[in-house]
Amino acid sequence: MKRIIVTGGAGFIGSHICERLIGDGHEVLCVDNFFTGRRVNVAPLLDKPTFELMRHDVTFPLYVETDEVYNLACPASPVHYQFDPVQTTKTSVHGAINMLGLAKRTRAKILQSSTSEVYGDPAVHPQVETYWGNVNPIGPRACYDEGKRCAETLFFDYYRQHKLRIRVARIFNTYGPRMLPNDGRVVSNFIVQALKGDPITIYGEGQQTRSFCYVDDLVSGLIKLMDASDDVTGPVNLGNPVESTILELAEKIIALTKSKSKIVNKPLPQDDPTRRRPDISVAKAKLGWAPTVPLDEGLARTVDYFRRQVAA
Ligand code: NAD
Ligand code: UDP
Repeated sequence: MKRIIVTGGAGFIGSHICERLIGDGHEVLCVDNFFTGRRVNVAPLLDKPTFELMRHDVTFPLYVETDEVYNLACPASPVHYQFDPVQTTKTSVHGAINMLGLAKRTRAKILQSSTSEVYGDPAVHPQVETYWGNVNPIGPRACYDEGKRCAETLFFDYYRQHKLRIRVARIFNTYGPRMLPNDGRVVSNFIVQALKGDPITIYGEGQQTRSFCYVDDLVSGLIKLMDASDDVTGPVNLGNPVESTILELAEKIIALTKSKSKIVNKPLPQDDPTRRRPDISVAKAKLGWAPTVPLDEGLARTVDYFRRQVAA
């Protein structure tokens, strides 16, 4: 049994990690300031003796003992991370410094949930880990992109300078149950709009692409990365390499929900990446990991979840 901290553990991905780790017999301390996370996401875990929930903002230091840290604290949807961009950068940068300091003091292993956004609007396709990216440092997405890039820098400096055991995962678009219905990300937006019969809001012409990974697959990848040998620092891309245009996604969701919603086009947000698909050769070779849940199946499970939310 390991003692494991999950920052951002009451959020979408974090709550699935907490659930998996508790199921695997570990002791979990979920640390969250509830900016986008919710107690209800971890409600089934609250009565487990091995689970503890702490309200804490990672921009402040934390003194607890642990064996491993999954550092997920950070709003992930453009709507939420642009709501208070200064706090977003602080969460990524000060949060990383505080959690790296904790890992250094306790000699814990620490995993950073980085993002495909470090590649910006990529000039290399599909994205490989050796690509340095194409990020606008002063645009509206920069608080998130540059915050995450700086966090990666800090992780590798703690690795070189303090011999910390680090893992850096570059997560590509992930979806599934417990996404917030109003968080503005494309999968949750389209499903909620389709279920309510509201217009499906495509930004731009919908020709931009993303590659969508079901949350259970992602969690398996993150845990495999944490459990890999210490020479596997990453960065490692984790995502599903099946690429779709946003228009194709909208049509798929309309068909799946048998919705009467019509598609409407809205302006494309500034710096919206044109295309995104992970090259997952490193994850396959080093972790023996590849996603297993096809988009149709993952979307069906997510639709079931949102049907219950919309009905409640
Ligand atoms: P989420 O918004 O559901 O989860 C983030 C969690 O962090 C929330 O519970 C929030 O309350 C918490 N949080 C935010 N600021 C905090 C702070 N200062 N102190 C403590 N807790 C704080 O988003 P998610 O999709 O679950 O993303 C989790 C992580 O994965 C993030 O770091 C995100 O950057 C990364 N990621 C996600 C995706 C994706 O597609 N979902 C893609 C790439 C990277
Ligand atoms: N998008 C869209 N309609 C929406 C929400 C998003 O067309 O209601 C587009 C958005 O412009 C982007 C893609 O879907 O091109 C993915 O957006 P999301 O916010 O989910 O993630 P990210 O841009 O961070 O990959």
